[in-house]
Amino acid sequence: MYPSKQHLENYAALAVNVGVNVQQGQTVVVMAPITAAPLVRLIASKAYEAGAKNVHVEYNDEELSLIKYKKAPEEAFSEYPMWRAKAWEEYVETGAAFIQIYCPNPDLLNGVDPARVATASKTASAALSGYRGSLMNHTNAWSLISYATPEWAAKVFPGLAPEEAVQKLWERIIDATRIGLEDPIQAWKEHNAKLLQVVEQLNRKRYKQLQYEAPGTSLTVELPEGHIWLGGSKANAKGIFFNPNMPTEEVFTMPHKDGVNGTVRSTKPLNYNGQVINGFSLTFKDGRVTDYSAEQGYEALSNLLKTDEGARHLGEVALVPHDSPISNSNVIFFNTLYDENASCHLALGQAYPVNLEGGTKMSPEELLAHGANRSLTHEDFMIGSPDMNIDGVTQAGTREPIFRNGNWVI
Ligand code: ZN
Ligand code: ZN
Repeated sequence: MYPSKQHLENYAALAVNVGVNVQQGQTVVVMAPITAAPLVRLIASKAYEAGAKNVHVEYNDEELSLIKYKKAPEEAFSEYPMWRAKAWEEYVETGAAFIQIYCPNPDLLNGVDPARVATASKTASAALSGYRGSLMNHTNAWSLISYATPEWAAKVFPGLAPEEAVQKLWERIIDATRIGLEDPIQAWKEHNAKLLQVVEQLNRKRYKQLQYEAPGTSLTVELPEGHIWLGGSKANAKGIFFNPNMPTEEVFTMPHKDGVNGTVRSTKPLNYNGQVINGFSLTFKDGRVTDYSAEQGYEALSNLLKTDEGARHLGEVALVPHDSPISNSNVIFFNTLYDENASCHLALGQAYPVNLEGGTKMSPEELLAHGANRSLTHEDFMIGSPDMNIDGVTQAGTREPIFRNGNWVI
């Protein structure tokens, strides 16, 4: 039976010691669905063992969210309790570490008015922008992990009996997070070191442009001067290393917000706020989405792009080889934490200031002037495939292959 007690203990220890790398006297904030309580309790226990002063747990319940979307009056969706937003900011100020268990039901909001979802999402993003900005600045340590829920498992393995689907999904999680290995923490050290090698190589290259070619995709992405590639573990403001995503297979940087041209086609469905967007294409002119289409979820895509001006520009470009552990499992997860780590991807919206030299010390205006995109949203979407070729253009104007048939050639 998966997960075993040992798997869950390894998972909790990994989230605490590698995910956010809890320090003596630190507060740890855990955000999780109520279904993940068995893991949350172990995380709390491991966090105290690692020296945490306080573990604050914030549970959420998708069924309650659904009831609200169906029954609450319209005005409920443009209101966000500011005391709650302030609480997160206060936790940031006191140097807390944030662990989030992320495993939304991809079909939760089927049939709910997308306009309500869009309003709620925009309202929450605006209220939480200070808190989210700090996390994107890597001021504090944070880490995203997932937990197999029956609803999520049913979407990933629709042909299986519910119990079997959950088992199968746990198998995939155990593999991807390495918690089934003898020493998961050592395995993550080695994995981080490998990602760092690629990062260092790309940072030495300082490409000024990336050119993507694949069926339905022909895209040029300019990289701003001083861009920094990152991958695996990162240092927070205090120099403590943490892993924001578990699993992670990506290396990523920021595109120039006005330097994207051409068309890109998605290769995996995107679970956006409980709605699935699939088979979509975006066309860019000078960084801005000027045209788009979607086989499924057109309205949700439309609402995402209408979040604000920055939602129409890119804020992240990430490279993931097609031949990688999560990708090789050949499973579509309908969970961006997993799907983005199986595929080259881009993100609409806010750029990470850490992807620019001196970025975390720049004012919002300075960041914009350097080409860093600004938005209330940051939404990754998958574009990688075994047919994708990517070239890098050097400062001198030479074109070099980076990806051939979906995999690294550097
Ligand atoms: Zn990413
Ligand atoms: Zn992202």
